[in-house]
Amino acid sequence: MAFEGLTTRLQNVFGKLKGRGKVSEDDVNEAMREVRLALLEADVNFKVVKDFIAKVKERATGQEVEKSFTPAMVIIDIVNKELTELMGGTQEKLAKASKPPTVILMAGLQGAGKTTLTGKLAKLLQSQNHKPLLVAGDIYRPAAIKQLEVLGGQIGAPVFALGDKVSPVEIARQGVQQAKEQGNDYVLIDTAGRLQIDEQLMQEIKDIHAAVKPDEVLLVVDAMTGQEAVNVAKSFHEQLALTGVVLTKLDGDTRGGAALSVKAVTGCPIKFASTGEKIDQLEAFHPDRMASRILG
Ligand code: GDP
Repeated sequence: MAFEGLTTRLQNVFGKLKGRGKVSEDDVNEAMREVRLALLEADVNFKVVKDFIAKVKERATGQEVEKSFTPAMVIIDIVNKELTELMGGTQEKLAKASKPPTVILMAGLQGAGKTTLTGKLAKLLQSQNHKPLLVAGDIYRPAAIKQLEVLGGQIGAPVFALGDKVSPVEIARQGVQQAKEQGNDYVLIDTAGRLQIDEQLMQEIKDIHAAVKPDEVLLVVDAMTGQEAVNVAKSFHEQLALTGVVLTKLDGDTRGGAALSVKAVTGCPIKFASTGEKIDQLEAFHPDRMASRILG
């Protein structure tokens, strides 16, 4: 799982602190230096780390850690709270249109997990008694349409596809129209991703955005890609008002820190976490639970 390294490091830091009865200002500073290193080593963006440490120190001073009976616990609690804040504070739900269907656009690089997520999200919505329609808007990756059709078949959700000769903008537009006619209350639009951000890709997804005015634009971010994830999120957000982020491949052997920086850098809430290739391996992202997990 992601964050294992970070968890071990933090446990060491706090273990040392717990071993002491009283904690001096120097001890706190020393612990913060180590927390800082642990976060940097876990690939958290350095500016994010800097702000994080400053906030923890500020709180620690305010809380009079030194006079407390269990100073180590006070510090751990502060780090836990700040880590939760860093990841967005509270769980953010998926958008819901005032008048159905709710249109959700998937954005991200190729291989990030967009098509997989489209299937997973559809399954989650079905379990909440919704009727999603999947729209095959990735016409460039040869297997993407088929992959979505297989996923739709697996969960019994309709898939709207027009092959690879019709423009994705038109596919998206007609997909939303079909959802309206057939009573689907959610439309999940899969889109193309390139290996890196390019202008054509951005323009296309912007055109889709303009055509269907989605209620939710989810950036799918591969947690394994390190600092690149932060750059990707930044550029997508600048071009395409994102409304949420989905972290994928958190089951992998990733340091995970870059993904944690995405919320701080874009201001976009992380709404879901994907933890495997199977269709039911998708969870609502709870910042507080993730913080507790990271602290071990
Ligand atoms: P797309 O190009 O963005 O549509 O990416 P895909 O949905 O095709 O996913 C690319 C690869 O990543 C596939 O082999 C997926 O099975 C895999 N994948 C997607 N999400 C996860 C995840 O959360 N964990 C793991 N381990 N693999 C994933």
